Amino acid sequence: MKSENILYPENPLLKPFSGIHQTAPFNSIKIEHYLPAFDVSIEEAKAEVQKIIDNSDAPDFANTIVALDLAGERLERIKAIFFNLNSAETCDEMQEIAQEVAPKLSDFGNDITLNEQLFARIKSVYEQRNQLALNAEETTLLEKTYRRFVRSGANLDESDKAKYREITKELSQLGLKYQQNVLAETNAYELLITNEKDLSGLPESIVEMAAQTAKSKDKEGWLFNLQYPSYVPFLKYADNRELREQMFRASSSRGNHANENDNNDIICRIVELRIEKAHLLGFKTHAEYKLQERMAETPEKVERFLEDLHKKSKPFAVKEFAEVQEYAKTAGFTGNIQRWDWAYYSEKLKSEKYNFTEEEVKPYLQLEKVISGVFSLAKKLYRLDLKENSNIEVYHPDVMAYEVYNEKMEFVAVLYLDFFPREGKRSGAWMTDYRLQSNVNGNSIRPHISLVTNFSKPTDSTPSLLTFDEVTTFLHEFGHGLHGMLSQCQFPGTSGTNVYWDFVELPSQVHENWAYEKEWLDQFATHYQTGEKLPEDLIRKIKKAQNFQAAYQMERQLSFGMLDMAYHHRELAITNDLNEFERNAIASADLFEPVAGSLQSTSFSHIFSGGYDAGYYSYKWAEVLDADAFSVFQEKGIFDRETADSFRKNILEKGGSEHPTILYKAFRGQEPTVTALLKRNGMVQASPNPSEGEEQE
Ligand SMILES: [Zn+2]
Repeated sequence: MKSENILYPENPLLKPFSGIHQTAPFNSIKIEHYLPAFDVSIEEAKAEVQKIIDNSDAPDFANTIVALDLAGERLERIKAIFFNLNSAETCDEMQEIAQEVAPKLSDFGNDITLNEQLFARIKSVYEQRNQLALNAEETTLLEKTYRRFVRSGANLDESDKAKYREITKELSQLGLKYQQNVLAETNAYELLITNEKDLSGLPESIVEMAAQTAKSKDKEGWLFNLQYPSYVPFLKYADNRELREQMFRASSSRGNHANENDNNDIICRIVELRIEKAHLLGFKTHAEYKLQERMAETPEKVERFLEDLHKKSKPFAVKEFAEVQEYAKTAGFTGNIQRWDWAYYSEKLKSEKYNFTEEEVKPYLQLEKVISGVFSLAKKLYRLDLKENSNIEVYHPDVMAYEVYNEKMEFVAVLYLDFFPREGKRSGAWMTDYRLQSNVNGNSIRPHISLVTNFSKPTDSTPSLLTFDEVTTFLHEFGHGLHGMLSQCQFPGTSGTNVYWDFVELPSQVHENWAYEKEWLDQFATHYQTGEKLPEDLIRKIKKAQNFQAAYQMERQLSFGMLDMAYHHRELAITNDLNEFERNAIASADLFEPVAGSLQSTSFSHIFSGGYDAGYYSYKWAEVLDADAFSVFQEKGIFDRETADSFRKNILEKGGSEHPTILYKAFRGQEPTVTALLKRNGMVQASPNPSEGEEQE
């Protein structure tokens, strides 16, 4: 079945990949190859699934669960190539193909989860699970597979299945409508400035952008709107307080205007339907349903987590608040600062306290040197060697391909690095894979991993110089990359980054911590012209600036987490007014007086249309994990082999093969605590020995 397809002998996507390490044949793939390759491989995958269903042998772990995990392997590889390139090197034609292919893929996915005969086989294996003598990873794959079906309604009787379908259909429509309303409300507001005086305080680049925006809409003057790149700097820098207030009120009341874009009723209906769906599937609340497949496990645990952090950060947040209030006073402002004053005075306070600019740091962070620093970190911690191999085919001349070897000189993975922005690449940074690691019945498949970023390109006179944030971004994505590359799992469905999503950011975020360590920076961070090391004083300032208003930010995130749980850990529909509901949910973490008409909920896309429902806590959760994990390195030494070995063996190699709490405890010896994060953020009571406290910051 995997042999060359006779209908398309010329299609490289349908031939076995015969290049180095079976990497993707980028040089010969043409756009016209994708659609036929999708069609053929979807049919092939369907046939593979059908074979599982038609198997006359009694269902068992190998012939059903493993077979299903391996079905459609070729389709997976084609999908990976196509969708990765659709993010990193796209064009109109590819986007059209994406539109055409999306429904075919979702139909194929539904055909599987809705297939009753297939589910009957899976259920039969699941019910025998205690007699099967499965290892931990096999048990995980079995449970994961069974739950995927059950959580999509496979276990319901006909009438409940019909109800389930109705609910999910209405929910997806409401999520879409919610998002459209937010967009419409965001676009409905504009601030046109015609008096140059009102631009006072705004940086030149922002003013220029506003002039361009005005021009593009045939207007005279400077046009600001509620999009982030316009709104955020306006609140940060505009001296005109009334205009800041106007902008703030416009933004914070989106979806709450009792007009055709109002989201209040939609929210209540979404919450109600989510409760119904949870009840149908046997859960008390939507949060309970969602958390079944998370490291945090239960709503109670999430609520305790939020409450615990809240109690500890609140006193520090109150101090930070008072500091800004005090600063505003010395700057000549009278009265209580309001929400629209916060960013404005905070920004001024920050630049006064930590007087340095990004431009001062960049000359010390030349891309080539940072790459060697990151690779040497991989060598020191995990004994990896990365060797560039220009014979591996790439999809753009900027992309570099590496072979990764371990200390025994065994091949570990292929790593692609794609650093620079270009037309056809979406913004941001991400890690992805072209092939997952697996090892079924001794057939060891090593992974192909890719890191894509948008770092500034070198010019004729200057090499690529990174900002400090770009260095942490590199480490972040490299950490995800290690999770993919070092994987030593059995099944594709449980390997690499196939983990619960409140656990997936641990390997990435933990590696960011090295960016603040002088011992690591000293190895590569030298001025590209003078060769001088990044000054210690600058490192200290960077660290401190990073912690600026950490407690305030934490309280704000916790309040979003609390609001999310209030909506989703409940058994009954909401009957009170949402303004009151939101107020009750977040009051304890809110430092400002409420502003009439402002409502977070009606533009809180994360939880009503973005997949973060009962999941907003995970931002803080991941930080707690990474700080707690890194504290072991701080204690034992940031290059300590034993600690790194343990992190590698218990976390990086294990993927999603076991419950993350088990993996984490195997590394840490205990469950994570919030202590290390509070310490990192400067939120601990003063140390009895001040010099020691300073040292550890
Ligand atoms: Zn990440």
